[in-house]
This record gives sequence, structure tokens and C-alpha cells, in this order.
Amino acid sequence: MEDEFPFEISPMFEGERVRKGDMYVELAGPKSRGFELVKAVKMDEIKDGKFTLIGPDLSEMEEGARCPLAMVYRIAGELVEPDLEAIVERRNHDFQNYIQGLMHLNQRYDVWLRVSKDAIKKGLNSFEMIAKASMMLFKNELPFIEKIDATYITDLDEVEKELSKAMEIYNARDERTRHLHEEDVDVFYGCSLCQSFAPTNICVVTPDRISLCGAINWFDGRAAAKVDPEGPQFAINKGKVIDEIGGEYSGVNEIANSLSSGEYDRIKLHSFFEYPHTSCGCFEVVGFYIPEVDGIGWVDRDFTGTAPNGLTFSTMAGQTGGGKQIVGFLGIGINYFRSPKFIQADGGWNRVVWIPKKLKYMVSGDIPGNIIDKIPTEEDASDLESLKKFLMEKEHPIVHKWAEEEEAEAKEEPASQVPGPMSVQSLFQIPAVQMPMSAADGSGVKLIFRNAKISIDRVIVKKKD
Ligand code: ZN
Repeated sequence: MEDEFPFEISPMFEGERVRKGDMYVELAGPKSRGFELVKAVKMDEIKDGKFTLIGPDLSEMEEGARCPLAMVYRIAGELVEPDLEAIVERRNHDFQNYIQGLMHLNQRYDVWLRVSKDAIKKGLNSFEMIAKASMMLFKNELPFIEKIDATYITDLDEVEKELSKAMEIYNARDERTRHLHEEDVDVFYGCSLCQSFAPTNICVVTPDRISLCGAINWFDGRAAAKVDPEGPQFAINKGKVIDEIGGEYSGVNEIANSLSSGEYDRIKLHSFFEYPHTSCGCFEVVGFYIPEVDGIGWVDRDFTGTAPNGLTFSTMAGQTGGGKQIVGFLGIGINYFRSPKFIQADGGWNRVVWIPKKLKYMVSGDIPGNIIDKIPTEEDASDLESLKKFLMEKEHPIVHKWAEEEEAEAKEEPASQVPGPMSVQSLFQIPAVQMPMSAADGSGVKLIFRNAKISIDRVIVKKKD
């Protein structure tokens, strides 16, 4: 069946990147528009395998072009229900990455694709080939899908029109978990989809915490685990509550230990500093500790400038991802801002000291009224100095914390467990270094750094005389 395609299809190509120089055309992404959407419909509404294109095809696009792209799939089957839409939709990412010469990043309204020059040279000249290959993978990998069709849109006006409808669907999905909380359920869901590139990452999805990619909520996890319990989304028995505020549960810890191969064995779902949730790489937002003001800033994928710490989203994303517990950076899905448990172990919104304007606007309905005007955006604070000034002028709650800490320091009390205002260097102190100086079997020295961030100016390796 694969012979009909001029490209290979294999999970082997998942990590393949199409860099600017190798790229024939860029689709959707931060400089254009696009989205992906899956809808569940009735069996008789679909002609299985049908593809419709609205707008110009690949063959009509010039080299180096940037074009909008929307991908809408409709699915049907006896077991197919609307609850499965988000889960199926999320798989478009891995399936399209199986296609040699096609790169797919992100999800929902953030999708970003590139087609390589090589793929075009080999004969990929139509979206129909991509859609047919994707539909084949959907049906092969998710057997509950009995029928599927696809509509791709490359016409900008049409993409805009359909995008606004899709946004309503995404919002309605997010809204479902608003009145459901961790204390109301006995089961959470895990997602291991991102282990392909972050091998020790497990996304723990609870009613109060959406997946980091923002695409899978508790209901989605439940639907997926029901239809395919051996699949990448599975049930996690909540177990005993160990730390209610931090969000630590015995069931989550057990699964963390087994699925990370012992990399970590405790997770506090609502803590930034203590046993934080791991970050895969596809998170919508990165939280970053700003030691100079002892607060936490947040930056999203759409923000192209630099945060007050002088870093961009992509630089910080690089430090955050990979499936480790990193103290100082935390990846989250946007909907987590709407949770009443949002980093509650660290003071919740009272600890937030910076957020890009657009993102702030998106979640403004869930920022407590007494703090909303005290949190600066890029328009109020562009560096550490203007940040400090703004926080002081507005009497942000963090300012009181500074005073308390100064007092505490004056009394020479022992340092508390939570990092106070300290230098970046001390924040990233190495908590544990295992360093056997020589191995008994003569194989050399093994260094294990846990929770460490190391920057090295220069390394000199010399052969012993
Ligand atoms: Zn992920």
C-alpha cells in the first residue's frame, strides 16, 4: 500500500527536522495561519478515504513560499464518540512526522509544517498524498476509526473562517473541565506520547491540569484510555493524597517511578520548585524563575521578543524540555492558568511577576481581580530593572515577600527550602553529585548530576602522560 507514495513512511522519521535551507515550502506556523481539527460524525456521513482540497495545491506553490494550511479530518465508527476527537487530533502530529520529508510541529492552532526540497524532488506534489498517508496511519494505528475523510484548506480567507469555528470547539473542550477538580475523581490519566523525544516524560492529566501541549484534558484522557487501554493514554489511580496543596498523590508517584525508569519517583503537580512535573518539549508556555525578584514569569510560543531575564521562548524551551524535572523552568498548557490549583504550592498568581500581553489577555478572566493590574507585560517591563520598578510601584504581593525575607536574613535564620531571591548560580546548585573517583572494573569515572544545569566555558581534555 505504501508503494503508492513517493516517500517512505516510518516512525524512524519522527525526529527529522526540515531546516530552512532544505525547505521547499512552509505551511501554517507562527508567520502564517492554520490549524488541525478532528470531528466525529455518523458513519453514513463519510465516504471513507475521500480527500478535498480548498485552495492551491503543493504543485502550485513556489519554492520558499509560506502558505496557510488547515487540516480537518472527520472520523466515524461504532466506538467513535466526540470525546475522542482531541486524542485522535493529537496523533496527526506523530503520523505526519512518520512521512519522510514532512515536518509537523505543535498542535491545534499552533501547527507548523515544512516540506523538504528532497521530498518534492522525489515526487511529492500534492496534499492528497500527505492526506492519504495520514488517513492510512490513522486507521492502522487507531482501529476504532472505521471511516475517515480529510479536507485540507490552503486558501487564506477560508482558513480564517474555519479557524474561528475551530477556536470555539477548542474553547468548548477546555471549558468542560472547569467545574471538575482533582478531589472529585479517583482516576487521572497519563500520556506518554512525547516519550519519542523525551523518554522520561509522562504527562499527568487531571481535571485541574491539562497536558502540556494543551491538547489533552481529563475527559480526552478518559475517552482514549477506554477505547485503547494499552495505548499512549492510560488511567492512573490517584491513590492517597500525600500533599494536597502541592498536588502529590501516591498513585502518580508509583507511575512516575515505573514509567521514567526510576529517573524520578515524586511529582507535585502544582509545585514549581519541589518535585515539579517534567516538561516534554511541546508545552504551550514556559514558566521561568526570576531570582532577582523571587517571582515566576511565563512566556508562550507566540511571544517573539525577550522576557525580562533577557531570554526568548525558544532559548528557555531548550532548557526546559527533555522530560527531566528542572527546578527553575516549567512547561505547561495554557489551560492550566485557568485552574484554581495553578502553582498553588508557590503562591499561585501572587507569585506571577510577568506575562506577555496577549497571553495575559487570553487568561485574564481567571486572574484574580486584586492582582491582575499588578502583573506587568512586555509593555510595562522589558528588563529586570523595569520589572522591579513596576512591581514596587504597583505593590505586587511579591514585594512584601522581599521585605519578609530581608528581615529573616537579618535574623540569620537558616535558609528555607524554597529558593528565595538569590543568584541564578545558587539556584542551580547541584543538589546531588555522585562521583566515584575510580571504577573498580577499570572502566573509568562515572559522573551523575541530578537536577543540574551546567554551563561550561571551555573544556580541556588531555591524555595522561
Ligand atoms: Zn508533550
